[in-house]
Amino acid sequence: NFRALVADGNETEKPKLAIRNLTAADLPEGEVTVQVAYSSVNYKDGLVGILGRMVQSYPHIPGIDLSGTVTESSDPRYKPGDQVIVTSYGLGVTHDGGYSELARVPASWVVPLPEGLTLREAMILGTAGFTAALSVQRLEDNGLAPEKGPVVVAGASGGVGSVAVNILAKRGYEVTASTGRMNEEAYLKELGAARVIHRDELTETERKPIRRPLWAAAVDPVGGKTLSYLLSTLQYGGSVATSGLTGGIEVETSVYPFILRGVNWLGIDSVECPMELRRKVWERLSTDLKPTMLSTAIVNEISLEQLPGELARILQGQVRGRTIVKLG
Ligand code: NAP
Repeated sequence: NFRALVADGNETEKPKLAIRNLTAADLPEGEVTVQVAYSSVNYKDGLVGILGRMVQSYPHIPGIDLSGTVTESSDPRYKPGDQVIVTSYGLGVTHDGGYSELARVPASWVVPLPEGLTLREAMILGTAGFTAALSVQRLEDNGLAPEKGPVVVAGASGGVGSVAVNILAKRGYEVTASTGRMNEEAYLKELGAARVIHRDELTETERKPIRRPLWAAAVDPVGGKTLSYLLSTLQYGGSVATSGLTGGIEVETSVYPFILRGVNWLGIDSVECPMELRRKVWERLSTDLKPTMLSTAIVNEISLEQLPGELARILQGQVRGRTIVKLG
C-alpha cells in the first residue's frame, strides 16, 4: 500500500482532492515503477489539481515532476536501485503523476539522475528549473553572451523566473528581475539580480510597435502585455524566450522588431522537448548551469497534506521560488 493525492471529479465540476491509500494495481501501465522521493509544485499542477484543466479522466493523481528510485523495470535500460527523474510528456496530466509514493511510467519518459544532482536538488529544479535552463540554452544558441548587454527576467519571483535569474547571474550576465512583488527584492538580489523593477514597468499600456532598445535578451514565463512590451524593447539581434502565460495568452506585436531589429522570438517547450536535448539540459543543470540557489536559497518543503493549499496559492501568483513535496 502507498499514499497519493488523488483528484476526483467530472467534466463540469472542479476536482476534489483527497489523500488515498492505493495499491500497485491502481497505477497506470508503464515499464518502470518508481518509489517517489520528491515531487514539486508548478503552475501547471495548479491548473490540473485545482481547476481540472487538461485532465482526461478521473480519478487522477496530479504532479508533473518526480524524482525517485526504480523498484521494478521491464525495460533493460533501467534496474531496481537506479535513481531517476521523470517530468513532462503526460506525467501528472493525462497519466498519473508524482503526488504519490509510488509511480509507474513509460521508460521513454525516464531521465537518469545526473551524477552532480541529488534527488532533492532535481526537484528543487523540476520542470520550472528545466524550463529556465532550456531558455538560457536556446538564448545562447541564438547568440546571447554576457557582453551583449543586460538580460531581463519576467515573473522573477516565480519558479521559472527565480531559477533563470540565478543561472544567468552565475554565468556573468547583468540581470534585471521584474516582479509584481517588490517585497521580494532582497530575495531576488540574493539570487543574483543586479536590478529589481516592478512588473508595471514592463507592461504595455500604450501600443507602440518599437521602443528604445533595452535588453540583449529576455526570459519570459509571463506572456500577454509583458511579452508585447519585451518584443518592442529588445536590442538589435536580441531574443526573447517565451515559456508561459501567467500574464495572459494574447500578444500584440508588429513586424517592426523583427524586420528593423532582427529580433528572435524563441518558443520554449519542456513537455515534448526531444530526449537528447532534455538529457543535455539536465546534464548542464548538474554542471555548468547548476544554480547556486540549490545550496543557499531557502526551499519550501511540504507534505502531501499541505499540497491542496499550495496548489491554490500558485494559481494566485503567491508562491515564491520553488516548492518541493517530500513523499514517503
Ligand atoms: P509560478 O511559480 O507561479 O511563477 C509565475 C510568476 O508569474 C509569478 O510568480 C509572478 O511573478 C508572475 N505572475 C503571476 N501572475 C501574473 C500576472 N497576472 N501578470 C504578470 N505576472 C504574473 O509558475 P511557474 O511554475 O514558474 O510557471 C510560470 C509559467 O510558465 C506558467 O505559465 C507555466 O504554465 C509556464 N511553464 C511553461 C513551461 C513550458 O514548457 N513552456 C514549463 C514550465 C512552466 P512575480 O510575482 O515575480 O511578478
